[in-house]
Amino acid sequence: MRIVFIGPPGSGKGTQAQRLSDHFGIAHLSTGEMLRDAQAAGSELGQRAAQYVDAGRLVPDDIVLAVVVQRLLGPDCAAGCLFDGFPRTVPQAKALDKLLAERGMALDLVIALEVPENQLKQRLLSRGRRDDNEATIKERFRHHRKLTEPLIDYYRGRGILREINGEGTPSEVFERVKQAVQSAVV
Ligand code: AMP
Repeated sequence: MRIVFIGPPGSGKGTQAQRLSDHFGIAHLSTGEMLRDAQAAGSELGQRAAQYVDAGRLVPDDIVLAVVVQRLLGPDCAAGCLFDGFPRTVPQAKALDKLLAERGMALDLVIALEVPENQLKQRLLSRGRRDDNEATIKERFRHHRKLTEPLIDYYRGRGILREINGEGTPSEVFERVKQAVQSAVV
């Protein structure tokens, strides 16, 4: 089972992907987390990524793809994987299609979480992550609208998109996510 989570910053995609990963016992691949880990480890790749993350911009595709490929080849991804925050651009989605096709793997489902923008900002400011400040949040929304939203049409055209209302408690949203997965995969 391979599932992509798409959603604006603060939509809860990390929380929902983690819950789904625990529920089904499949790997959770968060590019944001991997980039933060790379930065904390002080690697060259992490340092290159940090300047973009801290400015609320998208990290260039070559850096993101390098971390994804390493992880996809890992044994824990063989049985399935939840992609959280990746792909975030149409070129990344095309690169993922290619990576999966080369390995004889398919994408089963794309979940797009929908939450009104005024609620997102509140959620982000209460989270308090290093890149959760007013200026960065504004930039991240802008890049999301311009670069990530076109992915919705890309996947809709493939018939694997499910748009889910991301409002409510994490448990309420998780019930909707689980239903979408069950109806797509069974
Ligand atoms: P996230 O943890 O998904 O909110 O991601 C935090 C930050 O990491 C984003 O604001 C981007 O700067 C960077 N990032 C994460 N995933 C990607 C991606 N697929 N493409 C480009 N930048 C990314």
